[in-house]
Amino acid sequence: MIVVMSPMATREDVTAVRRHVEEHGLQAFVSSGQERTVIGVVGLDLERLANIGSLEGVDQVIRVTNPYKLASVEHHPERTRVIVGEVPIGLGDDLVVVGGPCSVESREMLLDTARWVSHEGARILRGGAYKPRTSPYSFQGLGEPALHMLAEAREETGLPVISEVTDAADVELFDRYVDVLQVGSRNMHNFVLLRAVGQSRHPVLLKRGFGATIEEWLMAAEYILSSGNSSVILCERGIRTFETATRNTLDLSAVPVLRGKTHLPIVVDPSHGTGQRDLVGPMALAGAAVGADALLIEVHPDPPKALSDGEQSLSFPEFGALMDEMRRMQLLRDRDAARPAPHVVEPPVEPPAAPIAELRNRIDEMDDQLASLIQERAALSLEVQRARGPEGHGHDVRRERELLERAAASGGGPLTPEEMTVIFGSLLRASRSVQRREAASTLLGRRGA
Ligand code: PEP
Ligand code: MN
Repeated sequence: MIVVMSPMATREDVTAVRRHVEEHGLQAFVSSGQERTVIGVVGLDLERLANIGSLEGVDQVIRVTNPYKLASVEHHPERTRVIVGEVPIGLGDDLVVVGGPCSVESREMLLDTARWVSHEGARILRGGAYKPRTSPYSFQGLGEPALHMLAEAREETGLPVISEVTDAADVELFDRYVDVLQVGSRNMHNFVLLRAVGQSRHPVLLKRGFGATIEEWLMAAEYILSSGNSSVILCERGIRTFETATRNTLDLSAVPVLRGKTHLPIVVDPSHGTGQRDLVGPMALAGAAVGADALLIEVHPDPPKALSDGEQSLSFPEFGALMDEMRRMQLLRDRDAARPAPHVVEPPVEPPAAPIAELRNRIDEMDDQLASLIQERAALSLEVQRARGPEGHGHDVRRERELLERAAASGGGPLTPEEMTVIFGSLLRASRSVQRREAASTLLGRRGA
């Protein structure tokens, strides 16, 4: 039940409603917005409050049909912003990328990964210390030493850290070392653990159980919220369906569905959601497009050697390329704006040595030459277009394919065939635009004449 107070209600009115609720053996959660206060009422026997609508200052009493209340938009119409370290998540804040290994495997690999993801613009570091694996024979995580390593990585990079807690008895230990406690998919129904993290002073990242409906997931969040922790972040990580082509089916429609039901921030995890490295990038972009507040991405220095989830972990260059792509699509802010201020004062950066300056000068000159060559090439394609007339416009697929094949095959440099194809593909697209513009303006000119 949600009790909406009138904008004129006094603090005493609110206290009286709360007392009334508590006297009837139910719990009241007061949430004060700028204009009004709403009170979420939780408990089994709401019938006892039949007369609550007649108390002073009460404007409206809404009987919520959903079984969750504190997680609902009715209880908290404004979206919640959860602060992780100093990173805000939710309420339309910038998209946050959480990056790091599935498991912490050693101090070195964690620090290398932390430095890399931080440099690329991730704002939070992830790393599993206790791994709930399907097989008891698989790597189970380094345990407590991994938490110390995470704390050290935070110290060095300034990135807050997130790690999965699997046992209610460990919540205090996690509270000492991490900034966010993750409840994993396999534990979403572990109500003892949910209540225990509800006692934590840190935010909780609640992953969706792979067999859980959205309502069951929100009920799990309700356990944490009603235990006193209001900083809950939901994480869609894929559900089990009949499809076997991917490890899980990443339910991206859950994001807009949740938006209509809850005020809590939402994270998308394309790594566990797909289980395949080549699908992580596209689904990360899709997650951002449907409005996720954050993305959780597994990154490993050498994925084939990873002790867990190597097949879905991005290598360092792959993670960097994905971050670039997200910046290019303006899903992420520019690098400098997105980078957190490191906690440690770094030694001043040495000015680039003379040879670097020289190399850069040569690159600049070459870029100038390339730019004018590209323009010259476009001018030639314009001439071709003029020569064949507006009816003849349209590209020659065979010629273009041959050009792309030649470009891909032209060796002698560090660019891969794929990268050469992308570059020449852009040139061709630009040429076609030039030709189309010309054809269209000739046609229009004729019509006008
Ligand atoms: C993880 O984040 O490494 C993990 C085990 O995730 P999930 O609980 O979603 O399987
Ligand atoms: Mn994992």
